[in-house]
Amino acid sequence: MFIDRVEVSFDAAHRLLGYDGKCASPHGHTYRAELFVGRAHLDDLGLAIDFGEIKRPLKRWIDAHWDHAFLLNDRDDLLIEALQVIPESKLYCFPGLNPSAEVMAQTLSCVMRAQLGDSLLRVRIWEAGQYADYVLQEGNTDEGEHI
Ligand SMILES: [Zn+2]
Repeated sequence: MFIDRVEVSFDAAHRLLGYDGKCASPHGHTYRAELFVGRAHLDDLGLAIDFGEIKRPLKRWIDAHWDHAFLLNDRDDLLIEALQVIPESKLYCFPGLNPSAEVMAQTLSCVMRAQLGDSLLRVRIWEAGQYADYVLQEGNTDEGEHI
């Protein structure tokens, strides 16, 4: 199997509702979203998949929903109310869940699977030097390695 990976960076703010520590305070990160797509065969051009076919829909969705947005648990009433006072605020709410890297990876995998289909293997969200993966299909995603 061939595995292609694309990434998109974006800036967003969040906080973890109910967290006992500094992540309870609103703060921001430069995030990185990575998609891993697998194909068994190459096309006539020698490509498993055109990187642009993966990156365009990823970037379009990130730009529309998460870039320069505040990522929120929809139960975070106080912060949502405070941000709604600012007309320029861009809010993205997760239903009943905190905007952790894990939740973001799962959410993005649902969105991108609808666009990319079964070939989407894994979604990775980098936050402050760490990452969380959501795995749709088991596969070896080590770069440069063949299965
Ligand atoms: Zn954070």
